[in-house]
Amino acid sequence: MIVTVASGKGGTGKTTVAASLALSIAADSGTMADRPPLFLDCDVEEPNAALFLHPLIQERREVGQMIPEVDFDRCTYCGRCAEVCQYHAIAVVGERVLVFPELCHGCGSCTLNCPTGAIHEVLDVTGTIERGSNGRVEFGQGTLNVGEPMAVPIIRQLKQWLIPPDPGDRAIILDASPGTACPVVESMSGADFVLMVTEPTPFGLHDLRMAVEVARSELGLPVGVVVNRDGVGDRGVDDYCAAEGIPILLRIPLERRIAEAYSEGTLLVEALPEYREQFRALYAAIEKQLEWGQEAAR
Ligand code: SF4
Ligand code: SF4
Repeated sequence: MIVTVASGKGGTGKTTVAASLALSIAADSGTMADRPPLFLDCDVEEPNAALFLHPLIQERREVGQMIPEVDFDRCTYCGRCAEVCQYHAIAVVGERVLVFPELCHGCGSCTLNCPTGAIHEVLDVTGTIERGSNGRVEFGQGTLNVGEPMAVPIIRQLKQWLIPPDPGDRAIILDASPGTACPVVESMSGADFVLMVTEPTPFGLHDLRMAVEVARSELGLPVGVVVNRDGVGDRGVDDYCAAEGIPILLRIPLERRIAEAYSEGTLLVEALPEYREQFRALYAAIEKQLEWGQEAAR
């Protein structure tokens, strides 16, 4: 089962929820899964789950995007490559062909359409992907190089590398970046369930609505909610979830000892082991939601 943990906004405690979920299931491995959970940090612009999970990195790969490179001995400067590029990432100016890697989407159209075969593709390195383990959770993360604009290819390659084609009942937890932009869509794509972490405030509700819109309306995925810092704010999130039929699967109260654990970089389930059972129950509730969804679809 692939679960993407998302939040419409930063600072909701999304990563600590995702990592706590993975660790709690790991503590139960053998009963809930045949293999240790796999955790992927897909927040490639600011990956920080490793600070909580402390994996030993075993393999690192440079990744990026295939971009065109022109062989000027073959080029006739016909301009066909620029005509077919939807992203204005290649231009023919007199007897020069200019490639703009930051605009290129690696679609390959220019290579396919070049009449003289003057274009071949080369890897433009934009980041790294890594895999490792902390002994209980298998771990992967992507890191976008500073100044690079395209996070999606890094996330896609991280997923292709580490998620098996048929995950079966293995628990795979993806920690998405905050927001609702393309990197979040890529992190949700292919998931069985999206777990939204929010806080019960008007800002939290506003961003939750947008994230639910992406998961449900654009991708057709079932969603559930974790309310973090329960006790601040108002009833807006509860009312919205009730009206939309979105289950609230866990509430984490606003408590000083939890806030202290966060501030020390300690995971909730490590600082307060009594929460492990609640996170296991959260995972079981997600499985139950999927079972109900499948029954309803029959
Ligand atoms: S399509 Fe090929 S031959 Fe034509 S300008 Fe582009 S690289 Fe040169
Ligand atoms: S690979 Fe696609 S996006 Fe990149 S320059 Fe060629 S046509 Fe444009």
